[in-house]
Amino acid sequence: MTDLIIKDENGLYVPKADVYLDPWRKVDKAIISHMHADHCRYGHKQYIIPNGSLKVFKKRIGPASVSTRNFREPFSINGVKFSFHPAGHIPGSAQIRVESGGEVWVYSGDYKTEEDGLAESFEPVTCHTFITECTFGLPVYLWKPQSQVFEEILDWWTENQSQSRPSVILAYSLGKAQRLISGLSGGPGPIYCHSAAQQMTNAVRRDGFDLKRTKPLTEKTPTEMLNRSLVIISPSGFSNHFVKKFKDASTAAASGWMSIRGARRRRGVDRGFTLSDHADWGGLLLAVKATRAERVLCTHGYQHIFAQYLRELGLQAEELRIDDFTDEG
Ligand SMILES: [Zn+2]
Ligand SMILES: [Zn+2]
Repeated sequence: MTDLIIKDENGLYVPKADVYLDPWRKVDKAIISHMHADHCRYGHKQYIIPNGSLKVFKKRIGPASVSTRNFREPFSINGVKFSFHPAGHIPGSAQIRVESGGEVWVYSGDYKTEEDGLAESFEPVTCHTFITECTFGLPVYLWKPQSQVFEEILDWWTENQSQSRPSVILAYSLGKAQRLISGLSGGPGPIYCHSAAQQMTNAVRRDGFDLKRTKPLTEKTPTEMLNRSLVIISPSGFSNHFVKKFKDASTAAASGWMSIRGARRRRGVDRGFTLSDHADWGGLLLAVKATRAERVLCTHGYQHIFAQYLRELGLQAEELRIDDFTDEG
């Protein structure tokens, strides 16, 4: 039997339906798991996306031919049955289930198994073949519970306040920023968001997610106003201007990569908080098991090591190398 999903020069391809999943080159028809730039690219003729990410899609891609589907709502293309299922990665993010002739494949997209109180919880989907990401597919990556990380961030913020210093945290504008807002809104002061983070947060709100008010940070916002505040800026938005403006602030970064020695220093921040929107080693194993898949294709990260480990567990596991992905952590 030929594979239901294959990789070609454009991306992951479903030949029977003539459709791509998160393609990296321009194609006619693309089914998109979520709105991160390495998954949802500009220039496809037709997009099918999960409902609950349309406003973010429009913000990112602009005008395009796009249709949405609810989670678990089946749709057919050339007789192949597709459906979206929650991936728990960021608000609105999905796994993609593909079924044809009794054969079921699931492409995970990016996912995390821990509930974050904002994104729809990861839903294991029974399948024959599971294509799993493994961004953090090494046994050293084991996350602390989110509640503990938020406690640490709150302590840091409170400590900075007592010294009248702003707390500046670098976080990706889609996903991480909203997770921080959701988890820290009851904190000791206002939350400011810089341009990209504020705009994405507004789009996520319009997609139906309940996020408390945040204030927009501009280059003109006086630093004295920010002494009690948490300030969220995307890593790419932390320009020289802001480095100067916040020279007395305490700075931090929130990412899965903060668990690596030296990462905090490389980012040039005072504190690193390990908070990832991806599954850790335990989460990946849990997810693979929960799908009851007999075959696992590992992609997007430490696929070599993770596939080898799964083989040692007796699963049929292979690498599916996708070099084009950069990750938001
Ligand atoms: Zn992602
Ligand atoms: Zn990704």
